[in-house]
Amino acid sequence: DEVASQIAAGEVVERPASVVKELFENALDAGAGQIDIHIEQSGKRLIEISDDGAGIPAEELSLAVMRHATSKMRSADDLFAIQTLGFRGEALASVASVSRFSLTSRPASQAVGAVLKVDGGKGAKMEPVGAPVGTVVRVEDLFYNVPARLKFLKQDATERNAINALVTRYAIAYPSTRVRLTHDSQLVLQTSGKGDRREVLANLYGVELAKNMLEVTFQEDGMCLSGFISPVAVTRSNRKEITFFVNGRWVQDAALSRALLNGYQNLIMVGRYPLAMLFLDVPPEEVDVNVHPAKAEVRFRSSDKVFGTVQRAVRRGLLAYSP
Ligand code: ADP
Ligand code: MG
Repeated sequence: DEVASQIAAGEVVERPASVVKELFENALDAGAGQIDIHIEQSGKRLIEISDDGAGIPAEELSLAVMRHATSKMRSADDLFAIQTLGFRGEALASVASVSRFSLTSRPASQAVGAVLKVDGGKGAKMEPVGAPVGTVVRVEDLFYNVPARLKFLKQDATERNAINALVTRYAIAYPSTRVRLTHDSQLVLQTSGKGDRREVLANLYGVELAKNMLEVTFQEDGMCLSGFISPVAVTRSNRKEITFFVNGRWVQDAALSRALLNGYQNLIMVGRYPLAMLFLDVPPEEVDVNVHPAKAEVRFRSSDKVFGTVQRAVRRGLLAYSP
């Protein structure tokens, strides 16, 4: 029923930034070369994400907004070796139940596109529409029908920063995708899609800090850690400046951060943290991303091994640096 579906929605969609994360991940899963994000009023009024990915056939559009409908899992075994960012089939259903929602899409095999409109999870209406190949998701008036959620949204600036932090990190993680972000028609971020992570780093840390960051690449036991770390703990920094992507997904994991800090040893001063933007790739069967719908946590099959690798990678990266 309606209430149950709104509660379920709350698991996945907590604020505008979580909507952006889900839609952005869908665009990546669709193989997008370009992702445009258009935000109005910090996402409270409008979140619109367009991509040039594979698109959704008209006959599958209404399935896409049904709960637990995913095109990405073919068997139960897939759950243990997830290759895509999405796999639950919950995001679109959740977002559509708490907003005025529209999904426009066209795969290359179709001459025209189709648009599906859903209002607060109700009255799904579909019609043909001219559209370029790819997908546009429009989320208007988020939580308009869930006043309790609406009340808990933070000030505009806070929600806006959360969106920017998220999109910037994903833009660094996926440097071969052109990413464009505007707030109320103001351009906030634009990447070239040329595959250079350092180019986008400056957007996160500022030119000066980004220039000084050390590049890390380390491989061990089928795991690979790459990315950027600051040579020392940076004053203005805090734990929020430590970012880990595991198999292409942004995760927030205290143990990974601790492994990083261990790698710094005596370079850490009390109350200061380093900057880090690190990408850990492990064989998919070594990591369980199935912990929480928002998928911010991970569980490793052999966490000691993973944390050891992170620590050694960081130590090695710092040693290679001679000021
Ligand atoms: P999940 O990503 O877990 O499969 P979602 O609710 O996020 O679930 O999306 C449901 C389905 O809609 C996806 O499995 C996919 O088939 C389709 N879909 C969603 N967004 C896009 C997109 N931007 N491009 C192509 N297909 C999409
Ligand atoms: Mg998804």
